Amino acid sequence: MSLKSVNDILGVLEKQAQWQEQPLQRLLKCWAEVVGTVVAAHTQPLSIQRDVLWVATSSAAWAQNLTFGRSQLLLKLNEKLPTPLLDIRFSTASWQHSPVTSKQQETVLPSEHPSYLGDQVSHRHVTPDVKDANTAFEHWAKTMQARSHGLPLCPQCQSPTPPGELQRWGVCSLCVAKQL
Ligand SMILES: [Zn+2]
Repeated sequence: MSLKSVNDILGVLEKQAQWQEQPLQRLLKCWAEVVGTVVAAHTQPLSIQRDVLWVATSSAAWAQNLTFGRSQLLLKLNEKLPTPLLDIRFSTASWQHSPVTSKQQETVLPSEHPSYLGDQVSHRHVTPDVKDANTAFEHWAKTMQARSHGLPLCPQCQSPTPPGELQRWGVCSLCVAKQL
């Protein structure tokens, strides 16, 4: 398999990962643009739970004002998001609890974290620095390992593999591709 096709696969995987795993990151990117710099300075999107966005505000007055205008805000945000939000909740409760320090927003790269075991599920997708096909595969294997915890391992590359692939080829689909 050529480096180009590896990169193509990684590109697709990354898009999927961004859409599936990073709705908050996507939202954070367009938040200031949608709400404006003034509001952005007094708000901090915290999390998205069941399509409801939770936002910390600097004061109860901001929470009240923004709650009042949230329908319009939802329309604007949903134009930019792949998965539409159903509602937004504003609260002063978590203000100053920066999301980067909370457990859900791990900013340390999983591979650099001292307790990294290779199978922890990261909420933050790490863009690989793809230098060659081996690095690319290594990254891909780690990502897949994190997501497909519990699957049987490919006897050739030790990556978790859907049982159907092992039944059909005896190895994972990547190893089959490498043999071609
Ligand atoms: Zn394999």
